[in-house]
Amino acid sequence: MIHFKKRRIRLIEEIRMRGGGAVIISNASLIVRSGDTYYPYRHDNYFYYLSGFSEPEAVILLIVNQDTSRSILFCNSKKLEQEIWHEDHIGLPVIGEKLNFEEVLPMDISHQKIGELLVHVSTIFCVIDYESKWNKQLCKWLKIVHNLKRKNSIFPFTFIDVRVLLDEFRLFKDANEINIMRQAAAISTKAHCSVMQQLRHGSYEYQLEAELLYVFRKHGAQFPAYNSIVATGYNACILHHCASDTQLKNGDLVLIDAGCEFESYASDITRTVPVNGKFSYVQKELYEIVLMAQEQALKQVKPGKSFIDAHNVAVRILAQGMLDVGLLDSNKVGTLDDVIMNGDYQQFYMHNTSHWIGMDVHDVGGYYSNSLCHNNSNKHVWRILEPGMVLTVEPGIYVRPATHVPEKYWNIGIRIEDSVHVILGGQEVLTSDVPKTIIEIEAVMNFFS
Ligand code: MG
Ligand code: MG
Repeated sequence: MIHFKKRRIRLIEEIRMRGGGAVIISNASLIVRSGDTYYPYRHDNYFYYLSGFSEPEAVILLIVNQDTSRSILFCNSKKLEQEIWHEDHIGLPVIGEKLNFEEVLPMDISHQKIGELLVHVSTIFCVIDYESKWNKQLCKWLKIVHNLKRKNSIFPFTFIDVRVLLDEFRLFKDANEINIMRQAAAISTKAHCSVMQQLRHGSYEYQLEAELLYVFRKHGAQFPAYNSIVATGYNACILHHCASDTQLKNGDLVLIDAGCEFESYASDITRTVPVNGKFSYVQKELYEIVLMAQEQALKQVKPGKSFIDAHNVAVRILAQGMLDVGLLDSNKVGTLDDVIMNGDYQQFYMHNTSHWIGMDVHDVGGYYSNSLCHNNSNKHVWRILEPGMVLTVEPGIYVRPATHVPEKYWNIGIRIEDSVHVILGGQEVLTSDVPKTIIEIEAVMNFFS
């Protein structure tokens, strides 16, 4: 729990350098699913990042002056009735010691107390417009301040979105976070391997999803990190297709994009495999293009490279492949450089190659450095990769039926995705144990047959 405290201290120091103020961050609320049932509770990532606490109805308040600071957690007290009907929760008074929090106060008094504590504060760092319920609560606290001391003054606060600071913290993962992400990746790896071994033609997409969820949970993951994409045949050309009741057919591919969340950190893996365990010639043609794009793009993930380098390398290989197999007709679209410049490849590859990954699967953190191009002042400069960053590399090709596209490629959708940790002098592919080459995939799928 000491790393949560270290993050609070770091944030306090950053705010002190900005002249001081108060940080207020609330945890997420329970959300009603229907009637009197609720969705499984999931904390707010900013709140958890600073506290390690995962119970609803809780607020972090940091008061930062030039020489002193206070770190206060407001949370519910232990209530026997709550425990009888629902579950045990840490609550007051145990929590302060457990979470290494300096002061812990009951939520019951937060309304008046936070108002009082903000009386001498002029700058408030909070998550602006993030969850409307808490914005309303913030207004209520500020009204108390106004009533207490500043009845006749104009609204005196400066608001700064605390995410400006915390997103930059979260972009760089420490050793503890990386260790958790390795475990998340290992569980997701098991799930992908299990699905590869078990899928058969006649299975339904939802059955593959069930296997993924079973393995995630069996190995201790709390949630899927996002809705699992299990997409066979034409469905693979729908980028965010969720597992449906489509049946897997002999001769089709199935694309599986799934990862678990373990101790608040996401994993993200995509593999595309043949339903009958053997790639057809046509499927191989496109698969080898995507695989080469992914392998070469992965090599771009290391310190000193720009965030966009992996994408640029992937696009070049994918576009060349599209020209080679006739998905793009060079008589109509011109040379490789023309295809890239005019974006003709986007008919078959329409998304980016990478995103940050961490507590969120599409994690926070800027994609641009603060500087601008010297030769074009309107253009941002892509961020340079540094140790501690974690990102995905996930090129693909998706062929929807169209009259000018060779019919043999219709309805083939392929994506290959790994999560990569940037380390000193290179990279660590967190998801490298999931079979990826044609030989590896066919070997795993046919092991028991
Ligand atoms: Mg991804
Ligand atoms: Mg993915």
